[in-house]
Amino acid sequence: MRIDIITVLPRLLDSYFNESILRRAQEKGLAEVHLHDLRAFSEDKHKRVDDYPFGGGAGMVMSIAPVHKAITWLRNERAYDEVIYMSPDGELLDQPLANRLSTLGNMILLCGHYKGVDERIREHLITREVSIGDYVLTGGELPAAVLSDAVIRLLPGVLGDETSALSDSFQDGLVAPPVYTRPEDYGGWIVPDVLLGGHAAKIAEWRHQQSVERTQQRRPGLLEEK
Ligand code: SAH
Repeated sequence: MRIDIITVLPRLLDSYFNESILRRAQEKGLAEVHLHDLRAFSEDKHKRVDDYPFGGGAGMVMSIAPVHKAITWLRNERAYDEVIYMSPDGELLDQPLANRLSTLGNMILLCGHYKGVDERIREHLITREVSIGDYVLTGGELPAAVLSDAVIRLLPGVLGDETSALSDSFQDGLVAPPVYTRPEDYGGWIVPDVLLGGHAAKIAEWRHQQSVERTQQRRPGLLEEK
């Protein structure tokens, strides 16, 4: 999978993709993340990528030309399955959407800033719009990182234990059961007995029960959807 992120703040994302699991995914050749500085596509002598809104009002709007040039340049290099604009009014990112996106080959993520992008970019250049939740951030960089992380960790071979991503919350319509590690007894805070007994079937049953109970308590909506 290849993800190309168009942003005015590439440095903001650099460290996130160069640590830990996401870094290893790239080193293993399972995923490629490329950051593109939108200003490099500005023909303005001050490298501006925004302008005042028609009709007046507060805030700046990201201009069409640099975004159009960046997307066209990328599309001339290779085919993309999706050109995604990160937007608070987009389709909400959830596990089923992350699963679907993880089957794609290449995608472009466009990070907005200021008041957002000129609407004609959304009409003519974007194939999908994704939100990470009903709140507004200052830019699309964190949303692009969230989407990329959620998708890349699903690629086969990225997580050490192949089954690990499948046992995460939401994958089976349930939240994850509680997990414990050593010591067994931390000043009286003890680990449930069943996990120490080594009886695989009992442990699996206990985990499933815990998942169901927790889903009922914390995310009853997940049970209704089924
Ligand atoms: N005026 C816009 C918000 C602009 S926020 C509105 O009210 O909808 C600036 C940029 O941050 C957006 O263009 C978008 O790319 C990004 N952004 C902010 N919140 C986001 C969210 N919840 N999900 C995805 N992208 C978001």
